[in-house]
Amino acid sequence: MPDLIGLELSDLETAFSKFHARRIFKFVYAERSGDPANLPPGYTLGALTEAARYTSTDGTVRYLMQLEDGKTVETVFMTEGSRDTICISSQVGCPVDCKFCLTALMGLERNLTAGEIVGQVLHVMQRHNLAPKNRTMNIVMMGQGEPLMNLDNVLKATRILIDQRGIGMGERRICLSTSGLIPKIEELGQAAIRPRLAISLNASSEEQRRQIMPITKKWHLADLIETCRQFPLKPKENIFFEYVVLGGVNDSDEDAHRVVQLLQGLDCKVNLIPLNPGPGIPFVTPSDERVNSFQRIIMKSIPCYVRKPRGRDIYAACGQLNRMNQTGDLVTIEVTA
Ligand code: SAH
Ligand code: SF4
Repeated sequence: MPDLIGLELSDLETAFSKFHARRIFKFVYAERSGDPANLPPGYTLGALTEAARYTSTDGTVRYLMQLEDGKTVETVFMTEGSRDTICISSQVGCPVDCKFCLTALMGLERNLTAGEIVGQVLHVMQRHNLAPKNRTMNIVMMGQGEPLMNLDNVLKATRILIDQRGIGMGERRICLSTSGLIPKIEELGQAAIRPRLAISLNASSEEQRRQIMPITKKWHLADLIETCRQFPLKPKENIFFEYVVLGGVNDSDEDAHRVVQLLQGLDCKVNLIPLNPGPGIPFVTPSDERVNSFQRIIMKSIPCYVRKPRGRDIYAACGQLNRMNQTGDLVTIEVTA
């Protein structure tokens, strides 16, 4: 039976009258009750199952969400003040082999469907009683996976998330992070409705980036930056650059100066992410002194923030979304529900 979560209003209108399609859309995305009495015959809701949940001392919650075929992905909820952020996955695993990332060790299992992408958001909204209308709600596609390798489903999910008749997110509040697939960035730029763009820069030179992100051999850093310069920004939009800081590798003052050079003239912000360490990751977290110095140099030219580590105690931090259990061991199956 087909699932309702993942269908746009236009999809529903091909199967139902305009009136019914709207009612079903509202039931699935606006009311979010999931009451089976409201399901049209022949359809399932397609909600994801929570296989496990871990709560951090800082309030971050990591969910292990089970998909219909038994595979699992991770979704993270972070809250600070009146601002909530949901970090969602776009693939099961990831085929890009960044050397500092635990998800890379899984390889790619498969793409998520649009329904599985939206389903993660719906689950967290229900769990935490969220409504984008009364709090600031952000969605970042920074969980497992390379979102631009699953662009069609990511775009479809985005259209569903921002539809004001349903969930009603602000388009500017959804952000996608990529390792830098140039043709797909260009394709993203052409989409009428799309997330904002974040680039995982992570290095200050071509050679350095090749070492830690071998995908640079295919899509060169210079060309990636040029693609960013050509990217059609909307009013008040800018590009985020994420920079994972690896102790003694890419954290020198010279690196910071090179980053400023690279990004000169771009309408952008830089987010520094001190490495979140993990088993099998051959790098160390940089010292605070290094991170502060790096930030100070960038800040002279470009707004630059240091991403606070969130949920480290429950392995919910950036790049840790492999199948980690509470003690930090890599595990293959971890279903507690
Ligand atoms: N695949 C996409 C999105 C998921 S990774 C991408 O790479 O952009 C989300 C962010 O986590 C990226 O900026 C990535 O560079 C960062 N990251 C990966 N592993 C990390 C680690 N061990 N510590 C800190 N950040 C990490
Ligand atoms: Fe994939 Fe992003 Fe991890 Fe690189 S950093 S392996 S692109 S999830």
